[in-house]
Amino acid sequence: MPTNTFPHVPTNESLLFPLVSHQNGFIKLSEIPSSSGSESSGPESTDSAARELSIVDLQQHIHQMYYEKDVARGVEGTFMWLMEEVGELSSALRGNDRENLAEEFADVIAWLATIANVAQIDLNAALVAKYGHGCPGCHRLVCECPDSEKP
Ligand SMILES: [Zn+2]
Repeated sequence: MPTNTFPHVPTNESLLFPLVSHQNGFIKLSEIPSSSGSESSGPESTDSAARELSIVDLQQHIHQMYYEKDVARGVEGTFMWLMEEVGELSSALRGNDRENLAEEFADVIAWLATIANVAQIDLNAALVAKYGHGCPGCHRLVCECPDSEKP
């Protein structure tokens, strides 16, 4: 039944994150000369591209791009995609392709934000509540929990 295709299947194209592709210098700012003659994408095409994305921006951005499709897919289907991306991150961590590794980190957090949207969780609020005052265990900025404990 699902002729409804996934909006951001894992791909080498920068469909998922056009705003944070390496072409605008977000990921590899320090590695790309500012005078990089990057193809035909003129400066006007990247003027609106984000240089930074807060967790709030990210979740809103994902919401704007994909929410209807994400809701139609649901939490379980979306979770499967997150797990696939986690697997790809695992593979990338074992390799030596830094650009691909950065992309996989981006994919994982994007899919996490996607699930948060579907589950109606405010990621920023959740992070602030749990980690905004330091370590959740000892409440210090430099954790002093015993090594036997998780955080
Ligand atoms: Zn701690």
